[in-house]
This record gives sequence, structure tokens and C-alpha cells, in this order.
Amino acid sequence: MTNPLKSELLGLDIQELSALIEKAGESSYRARQLFEAIYRGRVSSVEQISTLPLAFRRALAEKAVAVGLPRIDKRYISTDGTIRYLIGFSDGQSAETVWMPEGDGAEEEVPGNEYPGPSTQYQVPSELTASSVPSQLGTCNLVLGSHKRATICVSSQIGCAVDCRFCLTALLGLRRNLLAGEIVGQVMAVLNDHEVALERDRINLVFMGQGEPFLNYDNFIKAARLLVEGVGVAESRMTVSTSGIIPRIYDFGGEPVRPRLAISLNASNDASRRELMPITRKWDLEQLMAAAHAFPLRLRERLTFEYVLLDQVNDSVEAAREVVELVRGLRAKVNLIALNPGPGIDFRTPPEERVLAFQQVLIQAGIPTFIRRPRGRDIYAACGQLKLSTVVET
Ligand code: SAH
Ligand code: SF4
Repeated sequence: MTNPLKSELLGLDIQELSALIEKAGESSYRARQLFEAIYRGRVSSVEQISTLPLAFRRALAEKAVAVGLPRIDKRYISTDGTIRYLIGFSDGQSAETVWMPEGDGAEEEVPGNEYPGPSTQYQVPSELTASSVPSQLGTCNLVLGSHKRATICVSSQIGCAVDCRFCLTALLGLRRNLLAGEIVGQVMAVLNDHEVALERDRINLVFMGQGEPFLNYDNFIKAARLLVEGVGVAESRMTVSTSGIIPRIYDFGGEPVRPRLAISLNASNDASRRELMPITRKWDLEQLMAAAHAFPLRLRERLTFEYVLLDQVNDSVEAAREVVELVRGLRAKVNLIALNPGPGIDFRTPPEERVLAFQQVLIQAGIPTFIRRPRGRDIYAACGQLKLSTVVET
């Protein structure tokens, strides 16, 4: 997709930058310099690109060519150190992006640092302690030696059209797709805000913010490629979550550069899934699981299934047994998410014993199963809680 503001560089790939350089009559190697400075260097203006000749920088500025890094409009800081950002774009709309600092071994998305969740991983919001309240922004980073560790949750659309019954974003409907530059821009703005150096710090990205990434596929996959080839985030440190847009799962499996795949299962049979996720009327569980089986995993890669537990709805031991049957034979893990509640959501969060009983069934069947810690619930930053704060003020 082309950038509507022709003057913004963010979102352009190396071929598009080469075309721009050629048009300007500059040497072709300047395209690589521009690419490196924008993505790896994360500059905010063309004037800062010292590798380019001054005259060329001036010419770009005169033509109102800007890098186009989005601005941070607002930060909501949680008692657990999570920060929810409102990132503003040139049309006045904003997306939500979340920074989640990671404690020692606590975050299941960290490759090689995960363990089947004992009860200590499950926290209800009342257990969030005041001692973790950050006194200022800089202290939100968990600093181990000089290393920062965090997961950034990225939005792919503003709102979402999929209309899952338990999700706050669904209540917005789809406002619009985000452009590739706006998806990459969210990440870069947050990395800059924390002065992250990717060679030093351990940063994971999850495309689990607002929107269904596979319904904005071209922009999402272009952004993923720019993040890998430009910004310098490893593919293995990125995970995209889909509600199950089947044709795109097949396309995604064929991508030369791609994040890991997570599938939002959320129900153990078609009848239940149709109620909770209307997308099931288009593609049923048989089609979803066939796509999962056909997905070409890399060495040591696993699929992830996400399952939002809703009290007395999909959280019974029988449902857990059905999940075992669905997932059997796949190289996969399951992430359980106890419902993050919100206004307008008619479900309840299950009590801890039900969450643990559900997990136990899966673990006993040999399926690695983790309980995702709720992050930033108090600021509506947790999974499925992202909804513009103009709508939900905190
Ligand atoms: N649209 C994509 C990615 C964004 S949602 C998808 O649905 O997969 C990211 C995750 O949050 C999904 O697994 C979704 O099932 C989960 N989720 C949605 N609403 C939630 C809620 N209220 N509580 C907990 N998790 C929720
Ligand atoms: Fe959209 Fe995902 Fe929310 Fe479903 S859970 S409405 S797909 S953001």
C-alpha cells in the first residue's frame, strides 16, 4: 500500500527508497544509507542523517520530505510498570501500543525462558503491589546489569471488525487499517522512548494490540519485514496473533521473512466458538486446525494457541479435554489468558482454581501450557482491553 502522505519516508522499503533516490538524481548507494538511518538509526528528521550530503538533505527538507515517526500523544503508566501509549498519526487518529517490562523468567513469550506456569504466575489485579509503582519513566525498565527486557504489544488496525464477544477492541468496530509505516512507527517511537539499543537489550514484539493483523495483511507483513531487515528485530522475537483468517495463515506460512504464529482458539468446539468468535461461521475449527497442521514450522519453532478463559463458559475440565484432542499431534504450546474484564463485556474472570484445573488437564496430556500474567489491567493495557481512551478514560 502506498503512503498517502507522499512526503513520509517511514514505511518505504529499500526498493521504494531506491526509486526515490534515482528520481532525485543521487547515487544509488544513497538508498541504503537512507534505509539504515531511518530504520536502524531511528532518526526523527532527515537533517539528522549525517551520512547524506548536506545539499541533498536540504533538498529533501525543501520538498517537505519527512521521516514520519509518529508522535507519542499520551502515556498511561500501570502499577506493574506496564505503559500504554497513544501514538498519534498525521490524520489525527491514534493507535495503542503497550510496553511491558519483564521480570526474571516471568514472561512466557520469551524464548528459552518459559516454564509451565505454577500458581505464582497467576495474579489477580488486587495483588498488584504498590512497591512496583514506578517513580518516573526511566525506572519502568527492568534493568539487569545494563540490559533492558521488555515486550512491546503492537496494533495492526484501529479498532477491529472481527467482533469477538469478550474483546473490548471489538466494541470500537473497525476504524481503519494502519499503514506499514504506522505499524513500524509505533515500535520505533516506543524503542526511542526507552532509548533501547537492540544489540544490547532483549526486546520481544507481539502483534496482539488492536486489530486483526491478517485482515491488514499486506501492511502487516511489510512492517514485519521492515522490522527485521531495517530496525533489526529478530524474527524469532516477534509473534503475530490471528483470530484465524485461514487463507492468510497459508500465505503467512510461505513468507520468507515472518514472525512466529499464535492462533486465538478461545473455544473447544464449533458451537462454543461460533458464540464467542463470529469468524467461526466463515471458517470452522476443522479448517482452522487443518491450517495449523499445514503450517511449516522452523527448527525449534512451535505454534502458540491462545485461549481466553471465561468463567463457566469455556473453562470446564471437559473443554480442556476437547482442547487436548484439537492440539494433539501439533508442535504447539497453549497460553491461557484469564479474561481481562472491561465495561460492556458480559463475561466474568474465572477463579484461580478453575484456571489451574484447566491448565492441569493440558499439562497432563503433555501439552506445554502457560498462564499469561495480566499486565497493566489497571490502565486497560491488558490483552483485549485496548480501546481508545477517548472511549474508556482511566
Ligand atoms: N486480533 C488478534 C490479535 C489481537 S487480540 C487475535 O484475536 O488473535 C490478542 C489476544 O487477546 C487474542 O488471543 C485474544 O483472544 C485475546 N483477548 C481478547 N479479548 C480479551 C480479554 N477481554 N481478555 C483476555 N484476552 C483477550
Ligand atoms: Fe479483533 Fe482479536 Fe479482539 Fe477478536 S480478539 S475482536 S480478532 S482484536
